[in-house]
Amino acid sequence: MTPDASPARYVVAVRALCEFTAKQGDLDLRFTPSPTAQEGITGHAVVASRRSASYESEVSLSGSFGPLLVRGRADGYDPQLNRLEEVKTYRGDLSRMPDNHRHLHWAQVRIYGHLLCQSRQLDELQLALVYYDIGSQKETLLTEHLTAKLLKQFFEDHCQRFLAWAEQEMTHRAGRDVQLTALPFPHADFRPGQRVMAEAIYKSTVSGRCLLAQAPTGIGKTIGSLFPMLKASPGQALDKIFFLAAKTSGRALALEAVTRIRQSAPALPLRVLELVARDKACEHPDKACHGESCPLAQGFYDRLPQARSAAIEAGAMDKESLRQVAAAHRVCPYYLSQEMANWSDVIVGDYNYYFDVSAMLYGMANANQWRVGVLVDEAHNMIDRARKMYSAEMEYIHLKTLRKTAPPALKRGLDRVSRQWGALGKEQDGEYQHYAEIPEAFVEALLRAVADITDYMVEHPAAMDSNLQQFYFDALHFTRMAELFGSHSLFDITRQGGHGSTLCIRNIVPAPFLTPRFAAARSTVLFSATLSPWHFYSDTLGMPADTAWIDVPSPFTADQLTVQLVTGISTRFLHRERSLSPIVDLIARQYQQQSGNYLMFFSSYDYLQKVAALFAERYPEIPLWLQARRMDEREREDFLARFTDTSQGVGFAVLGGSFAEGIDLPGARLIGAFIATLGLPQINPVNEQIMRRMGETFGNGYDYTYLYPGMQKVVQAAGRVIRTQQDRGVVYLIDDRFARPEIKQLLPAWWQVA
Ligand code: SF4
Repeated sequence: MTPDASPARYVVAVRALCEFTAKQGDLDLRFTPSPTAQEGITGHAVVASRRSASYESEVSLSGSFGPLLVRGRADGYDPQLNRLEEVKTYRGDLSRMPDNHRHLHWAQVRIYGHLLCQSRQLDELQLALVYYDIGSQKETLLTEHLTAKLLKQFFEDHCQRFLAWAEQEMTHRAGRDVQLTALPFPHADFRPGQRVMAEAIYKSTVSGRCLLAQAPTGIGKTIGSLFPMLKASPGQALDKIFFLAAKTSGRALALEAVTRIRQSAPALPLRVLELVARDKACEHPDKACHGESCPLAQGFYDRLPQARSAAIEAGAMDKESLRQVAAAHRVCPYYLSQEMANWSDVIVGDYNYYFDVSAMLYGMANANQWRVGVLVDEAHNMIDRARKMYSAEMEYIHLKTLRKTAPPALKRGLDRVSRQWGALGKEQDGEYQHYAEIPEAFVEALLRAVADITDYMVEHPAAMDSNLQQFYFDALHFTRMAELFGSHSLFDITRQGGHGSTLCIRNIVPAPFLTPRFAAARSTVLFSATLSPWHFYSDTLGMPADTAWIDVPSPFTADQLTVQLVTGISTRFLHRERSLSPIVDLIARQYQQQSGNYLMFFSSYDYLQKVAALFAERYPEIPLWLQARRMDEREREDFLARFTDTSQGVGFAVLGGSFAEGIDLPGARLIGAFIATLGLPQINPVNEQIMRRMGETFGNGYDYTYLYPGMQKVVQAAGRVIRTQQDRGVVYLIDDRFARPEIKQLLPAWWQVA
């Protein structure tokens, strides 16, 4: 729903209008529509194929009511029968569909009915809700016959109920845009480099291009990205800005930046929403999301209007504020936050809200035709994160366990999956092998099992145990990814000793999935301190050909950081043992020369432990702090707390781990770092396959698989040393390969390498 360019117009999709005016009663997620998007599309196509030759599908309709422009696409119209149809695909027992779902469906078809009567000058019309059962492929038709006059009344009644809200939205939007046009920069001045970044983002938003911005630490990237995009919003008629972060800390920084902006412009009516995962927002983790189980789902839609109004009144809708509003109105905070995405100007959340397979914000932006600007923080994480979003994995051991406890109604389906699974990789010799295709019979068996479980869930909403639920979600995701399988992904089987095998649809190149996401936004800006070389990111992520690139000059100077190449040591796997002794002596020498706090980074825990053992034996007087595997938040905080302005010691950590990026140890808290290895991913059968596929796709397999990701980790880790213009420090890059020109050119331009 959005005010369009003309100030007196408010455009609203039929679906969104009805969701606002016709949703009532409980929140209830038990009655699911078709399990996969493809099944939904196929279901609609099957219904259309059963109609007469004159049947019209996807009929575009629109109509006005005062300042409202209501538009949408009706599923189908049969002129011979003078019947307008709204098709809904589903699984299970239709009689279990909650009444309020059907109420909403009737509202939609009646609104379309009015729009059709108006555009075709019809006096009356038959309306039909067509419920198509994916399992049995049967249709259930519910029909009613209404006059154009009654439909008009229905339409006007719903528009009238929405009008007051739309008018306050228009007022909000107009006031917001006036204030944004005059928005002052929230600090006395830009920091060095910050203005360059802000200008590039402003220009890319105005020109509707994507931007990759490599910008060093310490220049204020969060405000430097939000401010110019907000400033450009009124001119570009942006509805919303999505600020997407890889970690909670990134979200917190964005919320702080928006607070700062609001403080510097008190008249700015900016609504800011924080999206958090369900398990972090849920007030009743032991309950299910329907009115019979959870009190906050019961009557959710009846209390939503008051909660919605209270939330926009608050303006700042971070997790805690929204929780309070939700508690005051006895609604679920998680689903309230989803609702508020409709009415917010800036939305702060994880990457997955826009880039995931079924990303909520992407879906909403498409359905409502929002014009959005997207900011992606710490974007060097995007390739790994996107690959995970579009990969799917299943382990046989889970199926085996489930078969023992599964309800009898599901046993046959699970046995079928088990049999097909057993046939997979029969000829496989080694532990790991990749395959050109995912066997159809296996996917078919899995789809049937998913359908069985879906039906079972509808019949037994309270009976899902955690094993069944986990298998269901894994299988559902696997079948979705199998539908989308192509040269962007690998299918591989890894044998797990006596525990059967693991099947993986492994995404290598997320580009085909992400390209539509970039296309749907007015502008997307990816920023990070390490985005070199830019073509690696733009190719792999599928950014548009006209994507701009900027390397923001560092505010730091070469004299702040001494960079030493240690070329007399090889850290190659074969030479590891030989490297231990010279590495421990090197660290001790530097420490004895200038005592203080240091971090030593390794490519693996194994390497870390070997060096640590020798170091402790040879230099017991130097304090040593070790990163352990799987540290929890408290342990990580304790590790970092050792680095104080007055402490002295050496922390051992792994490249790419929690202490190699996103941590801030300014001044004496960290005066140097040692980095052993180029951070190259391990050579193993999976990475070798990835290299092959990257080579076939981009012609540069080794660099795209090993070198660029490795060096990105090295530069991130080294970036811990200089955090402010007052910092001084030293970085040792330990390996003979660091002297190679092609490696040196991947180091930051402001470093002076000795
Ligand atoms: S509080 Fe938790 S269980 Fe209840 S509706 Fe919200 S998310 Fe579902």
